Amino acid sequence: MINQEKKEQIKKRLEDTKLSLEAEIKKLETPVDVGDFPGEDDNTDESTATFNQRSAAASLREVLTNTEAAISKLDKGTYGICEDCGEEISQGLLEVAPETRLCQSCNKKNVVKT
Ligand SMILES: [Zn+2]
Repeated sequence: MINQEKKEQIKKRLEDTKLSLEAEIKKLETPVDVGDFPGEDDNTDESTATFNQRSAAASLREVLTNTEAAISKLDKGTYGICEDCGEEISQGLLEVAPETRLCQSCNKKNVVKT
């Protein structure tokens, strides 16, 4: 069971994470100014770079969603409960990944599935 002090710590960490994720995503989603006239030749390079940035932003966004969900769960008092099986998530896992929504065994199941 997580005590109140621990919860405050985690909440602070999550809020920091949230802010830096938001900044990072904003950076990634800002179109790169290549300072060049669009030419037929470098179209591929440019769209590859944009694609990479987009997918990086998308995966960060996923972490951001989890982080926000974790913060609201802290407020509701349901933090640290696995969304899949309803078991308590181990404190060790929460230390490593405070935004996690699943316990260790459900996490494993999910990895195997995908
Ligand atoms: Zn579980």
